[in-house]
Amino acid sequence: MTDTDEPIVKYKRVLLKISGEALMGDQGYGLHPPTVERIAREIKSVRDLGVEICMVIGGGNIFRGLAGSAQGMERTTADYMGMLATVMNALAMQGALESMGVFTRVISAIPMDQVCEPYIRRRAVRHLEKKRVCIFAAGTGNPYFTTDTAATLRANEMSCEAIFKGTKVDGVYDMDPKKHAHAKRYDTVSYDEVLQKNLGVMDASAIALARDNNLPIIVFSLDEPGGFRTILAGQGTYTRVQG
Ligand code: UDP
Repeated sequence: MTDTDEPIVKYKRVLLKISGEALMGDQGYGLHPPTVERIAREIKSVRDLGVEICMVIGGGNIFRGLAGSAQGMERTTADYMGMLATVMNALAMQGALESMGVFTRVISAIPMDQVCEPYIRRRAVRHLEKKRVCIFAAGTGNPYFTTDTAATLRANEMSCEAIFKGTKVDGVYDMDPKKHAHAKRYDTVSYDEVLQKNLGVMDASAIALARDNNLPIIVFSLDEPGGFRTILAGQGTYTRVQG
């Protein structure tokens, strides 16, 4: 801590990945504006430290391609609907952040000019340099992928130092800590162990992409007030997935 009690942050540019479900509160579906606002406040507190922030938000609170195809929809159509769901979540987060005075851009992998910017890498980098929070929407723009893979892809493209995966638990456990009282949390775990033991951090293609580019993934609880800021200062409880 410094004299002003500001945490010393080790990171200059990071990507925060949250699932769509993180935005639905206790409702079980859709968007819960007070929850969106609470997470936006966490992001603002980190932005106020000067950290450049990228964000990827899932769409599972609204629509998942796999669920649609299980009910008989054509898979690619269902996946495009899932990608559109992520745009809605991104717009909700943008609204909450901008109401707090945080400048943002929603940047979509599927161009929709009236709604948000198309993804142009150099332009996104410039936004980050100007301290605008970049919310990357519509996943990778391709069916058969997930927003975890989109997060890893964008984090690599934007030269982020790490992906911060905000979840409901404070790290990666060897079994579900909500079901097993003796579950053990890892402080660090390798990409290969995550893949071999199927530890459920992110899907396998996202983990492999992070591994191949040596991009650390930090899993932490987003339910902890002030959690994101604490973790960025290297304090608090979390698991670091690395090589
Ligand atoms: N999706 C996709 N390609 C991508 C990213 C997402 O097709 O690059 C679709 C896919 O159908 C997925 C849905 O969008 O189920 C929502 O994303 P995800 O399941 O990753 O959301 P989360 O679980 O993080 O809320």
